[in-house]
Amino acid sequence: ELTNPALEGDAELAFEGALRPKSLTEFVGQQKVRGQLQLLLTAASMQQRTPDHILLAGPPGLGKTTLAMIIAYEGNRPLRMSSGPAIQHAGDLAAVLSSLVPGEVLFIDEIHRMARSAEEMLYLAMEDFRIDIMVGKGAGATSVPLDLAPFTLVGATTRSGMLPNPLRDRFGFTAHLEFYADGELELVLVRAARLLGLAIEREAIAEIAGRCRGTPRIANRLLRRVRDYALVHGGDADLAAVHAALELYDVDEIGLDRLDREVMNIVLTRFGGGPVGLNTLAVSVGEEPETIESVVEPFLVRIGFLTRTPRGRVATAAAWRHFGLSNPQAALT
Ligand code: ATP
Repeated sequence: ELTNPALEGDAELAFEGALRPKSLTEFVGQQKVRGQLQLLLTAASMQQRTPDHILLAGPPGLGKTTLAMIIAYEGNRPLRMSSGPAIQHAGDLAAVLSSLVPGEVLFIDEIHRMARSAEEMLYLAMEDFRIDIMVGKGAGATSVPLDLAPFTLVGATTRSGMLPNPLRDRFGFTAHLEFYADGELELVLVRAARLLGLAIEREAIAEIAGRCRGTPRIANRLLRRVRDYALVHGGDADLAAVHAALELYDVDEIGLDRLDREVMNIVLTRFGGGPVGLNTLAVSVGEEPETIESVVEPFLVRIGFLTRTPRGRVATAAAWRHFGLSNPQAALT
C-alpha cells in the first residue's frame, strides 16, 4: 500500500537509511520539538551527563526513529535499537540493559507494546540505573541488585495514552510530533530528490507534498514512484508524471489511501455520518482498533473530516462534501 505510513520491507529500509537526516539542523520541520531537544541535549553536554530520558509520540512515519538516531549522533553516543514487541519477558530487557555501555542511547520503538513485567523493571532502571534480577525459583528465590551504566532511554510510541502513568512520568521530556505542513514536506522532498540525483520540477514537488498525508515517509515513497514513472516512460519528473503515477497507485487528490477512504465510507454510508464507536468501525473495515486509532484517525481528524465525541466518531460537513454525498440528517434539520 503506497500510502500506508508503516515501513514496507528491506528495500524501503535501505532507502530510508540513505535519506535520514543526521543532525537536528538537517531535520526539517517540527521546529518546536527541535528547539526543545536542542536545549536538553546542549545542557546535558555542558554538564557532561547523559541527557534525560525522552519519549517521542506521534503517528508513524513522522521521524521518531530518525530523531532517536540524531539524539545519539549529536552527543556522539552509541545507539542500541530495540522495540516493544521484541521485549516479551523481563529477561529480554535485563539482557539489553545489562550490556549497555556508559552514555549509550537505548531506543525502544513501539514502547507501549512491551511486556508488563519488563515495564516494571524499566521503572527502576530509568530512575536509579539499577535493576533487580531474580535468581532461583520458588521459596529459595532471591533478588540480586545489578548496577547499570548510565544511559538515555528514547521511547517511541504512536499511542502515548496507552503508556502507564509511572512509565510516562519517568521521561524527562515528551516530544509530540505533528503532521508536517506542505512547505516542510517540499523541503523534505527537495532534499530527497537531491540525494537521489533526481531532477524534478517545482510543481511536481508541490503536488507530491499535498498528497502525502503530512508524512515524510509517504512523501519519500511517492517520490520514488514518480521517479520510476519518469524512468519507464522516458519523460521528465514533472506534474504530468506525478498525476499519472499517483493515479496508477490509487492515491487521491488529497492523499487519502484505500483504508482512509474505506473508513470514511463506512462512517458516511453505513452509519449515516456517525457517531460510530472505534471497535465497530475497526470490525467493519477488518482492521485492528489500534491501527484505526493510531494510523488512520489522526490524519482524518487533522484534515477536519472526522471528529471524536464521547459517543464515537462523527463525519464533518467537509467529509460529506469531499465524497460528493449529502448528509441525510442535515436535510432533516
Ligand atoms: P515509525 O515509527 O513507523 O518507524 P518514524 O516516525 O520513526 O516511523 P522515521 O523512520 O524516522 O519515522 O522516518 C521515516 C522517513 O522519513 C525516513 O526515511 C526519514 O528520512 C524521513 N524523515 C522523517 N522525518 C524527516 C524530517 N524531519 N526531515 C527529513 N526527512 C525526514
